[in-house]
Amino acid sequence: MAKVVLEHVTKRFGNVEAVKDANIDIPDKEFVVLVGPSGCGKSTTLRMVAGLEEITAGNIFIGENLVNDVPPKDRDIAMVFQNYALYPHMDVYNNMAFGLKLRKFPKADIDRRVKEAARILGIENLLQRKPKELSGGQRQRVAVGRAIVREPKVFLMDEPLSNLDAKLRVQMRAELSKLHNRLQTTIIYVTHDQTEAMTMGDRIVVMKDGLIQQIGAPLEIYHKPNNIFVAGFIGSPAMNFVEVVLRKDEQGRYWVENEVFRLRVPDEKAREIQNLPAYVDKKVVFGIRPENIEDAEIVPDGHEDVSFVANVDVVEPMGAEVYAYLNVGDQAMVARLDAASKAKDGEQHRVLIEMEKMYLFDPETELAVA
Ligand code: ATP
Repeated sequence: MAKVVLEHVTKRFGNVEAVKDANIDIPDKEFVVLVGPSGCGKSTTLRMVAGLEEITAGNIFIGENLVNDVPPKDRDIAMVFQNYALYPHMDVYNNMAFGLKLRKFPKADIDRRVKEAARILGIENLLQRKPKELSGGQRQRVAVGRAIVREPKVFLMDEPLSNLDAKLRVQMRAELSKLHNRLQTTIIYVTHDQTEAMTMGDRIVVMKDGLIQQIGAPLEIYHKPNNIFVAGFIGSPAMNFVEVVLRKDEQGRYWVENEVFRLRVPDEKAREIQNLPAYVDKKVVFGIRPENIEDAEIVPDGHEDVSFVANVDVVEPMGAEVYAYLNVGDQAMVARLDAASKAKDGEQHRVLIEMEKMYLFDPETELAVA
């Protein structure tokens, strides 16, 4: 069993609090992704699990063992870094075998493990090559292979794909997910790329300024973000946020309005957001994802109370769809519209908001109104 548990873990560098009271419970075999912008503390968190960084306060458990004072080599972990740090003078076989030789593993055992890892990674035909004779993706596989041969309980990966070009990154993303299924081990993976987090993680830990903002399955975080930061960080292009005032009319219907639009909150949505009544006649932050804005002119009628006319700034064709950048009063929004949209740069265009997909946030606390 190789669950990993962080209990009230804090790390201070002088007066910088890099990680603040982190609590993460990672079950055995889970692929968990730590994600957040640069400097949010994700690498420091991973390095504390690896034993490369001392913990200022709190406890870390790997399996059943408290590892706070256990040196890295005795933690039963293997790490894959951003720069693969392969030994240039050794061939692939020996790069993979090196760590095991140091640990005085029997030769036959080393040979079995290297060949098995090479088979899993599809690099059996590269074992005699030197790193300089490999492509970026192949080097990356060797770096992963070096971790696999250790047969660790836990893999720790710090931005392992960030040196690869965009296409290879997409391919390796899928390969690492498959590898996880095959190896059935716990993986803790650090990235600043929300797409990697969404596509690879069983669960995602979103961090900002040393603080965990939310932990959950990718779709749970996408659909139910805790706060404005998480809502804006997960999803691409990012969620739109517009300042509005919440109103309730005489029929008990709720509306969000500003100087440009007045949009009806669906009754079901209003019932779902239990704290809604507390915000009537107050400022709230209205959130809508670009994919939940449609071209009203190519949708059948009957949407007057959920559509408005926006000033189109720029339209970017993406092939299957277009990104329309809109000016809504003095605020900007982006919409992912159908490729058939006739929206044009500099013109006005009616857009439809899928109001059942809307979010509201408290402008003071930035927390989701729930
Ligand atoms: P990146 O994606 O840029 O690597 P990160 O989220 O991994 O960022 P960390 O490397 O964990 O962030 O750093 C978190 C904070 O701790 C940052 O403010 C950083 O400057 C600080 N920090 C990290 N290592 C040290 C150190 N050895 N000494 C002092 N401050 C440090």
